[in-house]
Amino acid sequence: MNLRIAIQKSGRLSEDSIKLLNDCGIAVKSSGAKLRSEAENFPVEVYFLRDDDIPQYVQDGVADIGIVGENVLYEKCKDVDVVLPLGFGRCRLALALPRGMTYNEPADLEGMKIATSYPFLLQNFLRKHRVEAEIHEISGSVEIAPGIGLADAVCDLVSSGSTLFMNGLQEVETLLDSQAVLVRHATLDEQKEEILRKMIFRIRSVQAARKNKYILLNAPNNTLDIIFSLLPGMKSPTVLPLAEEGWSSVHSVLPEDEFWDKIEALKAAGAQGILVVPIEKMIL
Ligand code: ATP
Ligand code: MG
Repeated sequence: MNLRIAIQKSGRLSEDSIKLLNDCGIAVKSSGAKLRSEAENFPVEVYFLRDDDIPQYVQDGVADIGIVGENVLYEKCKDVDVVLPLGFGRCRLALALPRGMTYNEPADLEGMKIATSYPFLLQNFLRKHRVEAEIHEISGSVEIAPGIGLADAVCDLVSSGSTLFMNGLQEVETLLDSQAVLVRHATLDEQKEEILRKMIFRIRSVQAARKNKYILLNAPNNTLDIIFSLLPGMKSPTVLPLAEEGWSSVHSVLPEDEFWDKIEALKAAGAQGILVVPIEKMIL
């Protein structure tokens, strides 16, 4: 019995979803014209769908698990469980007004007409701030609505902000910070639970590997104390004597986000010949 996984057919989440499966050793190709595809070497079957339909499919158990943006998930309010965040597809649902319009607080939206593809999340925000505004639901190209006189403001997904900028809009509020998440049907039979457990284990190993780098460096023995203090404290680094008297080679793992600061500090402490290597998998 295969675990059925729903991913976006073509769009912003497709490539990263396939890449994640591939990095987990699950061989699936991008969909092409196909709507479903079986992995060659792992008991999963992939369904390629519109992202909007994924929460419903998983709720209904037509798919067992799925990869979808939190924005879509929370807008649709389906009864599915979030298994884990995936760290890609990052964006935010934001309110934007034509540049030059003053905005201080949500009350300034009173009486406005706001265009959005996220009526539920927008309504929640307005209700929370006790604002009465008209929601105009459109399915795409929301950002042009004020320019063509369809609305006073928009509530739309933003990543860099350049689309808003090009349309003369300025972001004034963030309603939701979003990323892709793995979701699952509430109940699965034991066989599928086992496949899902394996998948989650692999995803965690891939995520840990992406967040860390393997570092090798050479240092004079009298600088090792400082160098150890700069490296993560949890486990001690590996230290090997070099052929050259009085020098050692030090191996350790560094988190990506501390990386550049640490490299500078290590160099200043006397480290030389620093090599940084990507980690393929990290088993936790
Ligand atoms: P579909 O045809 O599957 O319905 P779509 O046009 O609704 O596709 P995409 O534009 O491909 O969707 O976006 C898919 C998801 O990617 C969004 O729901 C969101 O979670 C995420 N995303 C990340 N950055 C952005 C962005 N700048 N704009 C829109 N979505 C983004
Ligand atoms: Mg969509």
